[in-house]
Amino acid sequence: MARYVGPVCRLCRREGMKLFLKGERCYTEKCAIEKRNFPPGQHGKTRKAKLVGYGVQLREKQKVKRIYGVLEDQFRGYFESADRQRGITGETLLQLLERRLDNVIYRLGLATSRPQARQLVRHGHFLVNGRKVDVPSYSVRIGEVITVRETSKQTPSIQHAIEEVKGRGIPEWLSFDPASMAGRVASLPTREQINLPVQEQLIVELYSK
Ligand code: SF4
Repeated sequence: MARYVGPVCRLCRREGMKLFLKGERCYTEKCAIEKRNFPPGQHGKTRKAKLVGYGVQLREKQKVKRIYGVLEDQFRGYFESADRQRGITGETLLQLLERRLDNVIYRLGLATSRPQARQLVRHGHFLVNGRKVDVPSYSVRIGEVITVRETSKQTPSIQHAIEEVKGRGIPEWLSFDPASMAGRVASLPTREQINLPVQEQLIVELYSK
């Protein structure tokens, strides 16, 4: 699947909030949101467009896409899949995104950001139930065990991430054993457990037009 390869801090500035796409830098004063919290572009500083209706819905969708690193076609696919399932569509959409393997690696603290997690998955550093999975969009299921490959346990970026994100905490729907570097999907994430400042209902309204 294709991915966005442009400047990522620009995405945060466009959304007017930290999307945490750069790992440690996001927590320092070097963060572009700390220094230049206005939209990118020539008129970003001066033009303050007041968003209403469609504009608000669009920004909410872009925000979620950018947080999870998903492009439009794939995102729409997630929405259609959520729409076919029982339950509240917006919440199911977030749940599907949250179950992506790259997101789970990030949530387990094995990467400092989702983009880094995606790259580590792509490079084949992880096993799911003992089998190598190098597809970032792989959707984890209850009971699955995610481990770091034996040969990858000393990988500097993984070791660094573990040290760096120690205090960040792991969501309740996952568990992690640092000794064996193994995580387990205890349950599927509920909306309360997906700690994101987004109004998913706006995305449902946008796609339902
Ligand atoms: Fe966004 Fe991180 Fe860049 Fe700050 S440093 S603007 S949070 S990607």
